[in-house]
Amino acid sequence: MNESRNLKIYNTLSGKKEKFEPIVEGHVGMYVCGPTVYNDAHLGNCRTYVSFDIIHRYFIHLGYKVRYVRNITDVGHLTDDGEDRMAKGSKLAQLEPMEVAQKYTLGFHEMMRILNTLPPSIEPRATGHIPEQIEMVQQILDNGLAYESNGSVYFNVPKFVAEQPGVYGSVSGRVIDDLYAETRELKNQDEKAHPADFAIWMKARPQDLMVWNSPWSVGFPGWHLECSAMSTKYLGKTFDIHGGGNDLKFPHHENEVAQNHGACSCSPARVWMHTNMLLLNNKKMSKSDGNTISPSELFSGDSPHTSKAYSPMVVRFFMLMAHYRSTLDITDEALLAAEKGYKKLMETNELLQNLPVNPANFDGSENEHDRAILSMIDDAYQGMDDDFNTAMVIASLNEMGSYVHKLANQQLPADAIAPWVLDKMKATFNTFIFEILGLQNDADAAGNNQVVEGLMNLVLDMRSQARTQKDWATSDKIRDALAAIGIQVKDGKDGVSWSKQ
Ligand code: AMP
Ligand code: ZN
Repeated sequence: MNESRNLKIYNTLSGKKEKFEPIVEGHVGMYVCGPTVYNDAHLGNCRTYVSFDIIHRYFIHLGYKVRYVRNITDVGHLTDDGEDRMAKGSKLAQLEPMEVAQKYTLGFHEMMRILNTLPPSIEPRATGHIPEQIEMVQQILDNGLAYESNGSVYFNVPKFVAEQPGVYGSVSGRVIDDLYAETRELKNQDEKAHPADFAIWMKARPQDLMVWNSPWSVGFPGWHLECSAMSTKYLGKTFDIHGGGNDLKFPHHENEVAQNHGACSCSPARVWMHTNMLLLNNKKMSKSDGNTISPSELFSGDSPHTSKAYSPMVVRFFMLMAHYRSTLDITDEALLAAEKGYKKLMETNELLQNLPVNPANFDGSENEHDRAILSMIDDAYQGMDDDFNTAMVIASLNEMGSYVHKLANQQLPADAIAPWVLDKMKATFNTFIFEILGLQNDADAAGNNQVVEGLMNLVLDMRSQARTQKDWATSDKIRDALAAIGIQVKDGKDGVSWSKQ
């Protein structure tokens, strides 16, 4: 456990970077709001999850045991016109809401895999936690901070503000009067005692498809409630970190905090982390505005916004070139620059790993080069410790890279650097690139594809030979064995071809 590190995290609540002190030594509990699975994730969503993947990875690297909870919102996230997003998605596609949820959950998982993010430790679904949410509504009612109106239950914001002052507004950093003004135009106002009150249970309308029994009505939970209920269930009443995109600060996170306080008078998370938005044409990338690029369009080169295809790892690298709290505008030029930077980093690492370490020639004294490299290694760690500043990390790796190139082209003699320093630089590069930044080498993947092609050609040649010799047993055995691992062989007019199912 590398606890000596002085990891600082920007806490939205205090508006400052704070030294990270886990609640339980050696453990980190982190909850991140997951996707609403009513259509495909766009690159903006991916940016947020890649940012939290880096945070997850760094905690693991430091030796913490991490419980990373990221939910799936599969019910109740309303659009501005009051329609359930899941129901809207299913009506458009004429599918069961659960079919929609399943389809886009699988798509989301696939995208997370392609971008090489580590899976969360728990991925709870809102629909799988209705009893927990009903229980929380009851606790808030019992504490006198919610009221029932026509079968729906509303959180009483003014009463909460009066009883637990200083909490409402602490996430979004806005004053109560502004928050009140913002909620005045919302729908369903007639049932509420105050415009700022928000639903924690909603009575179903005839068109609602996903409904459950509750003490108040047949209905469904409010969107904010699921995260309060599921974070409490899996991480406890107060845990280390809660995260999500900037756009969730209000109302989602503000209301989440209010609900947790309303249920148990305690703050859910000590540290709130918010990622900044990915922009397209200088505007937030967003599903509802149609201002999006789908990741698959970008990977295939079919996007009208880009001149060519970019690999998932180039896209990941592009995201890491900016700090997670800065906005990031996606443009063709920026992606081209990222591609160049990514390739350079991978090539530098190849060069570095192949540099010979030659202790025999070393005279034992540490010199200015050694000290410079050790200080760059330290800078890379300081970058991560400074609120996960991946841009700083990449800058330090590039600086080390200039040493690698000098050594590789013999501008510097091979023994100019102490063997242990060279070893440390090799290990640091590998650790940062693959383990912490979570990049993969596209050249390796291309190499693997070549190996697979070669092996398949060999196997299919052997099968053809067997068939020529009427050795049907061998040819069937090859076909069946390939089928068992999902490879289908087709004998066509133009010869044999194969595909993966
Ligand atoms: P949603 O599926 O809309 O609930 O969004 C899932 C996550 O993606 C949330 O944490 C959002 O804050 C985040 N998000 C949405 N749009 C963007 C964007 N343009 N850039 C970065 N994160 C985003
Ligand atoms: Zn949430």
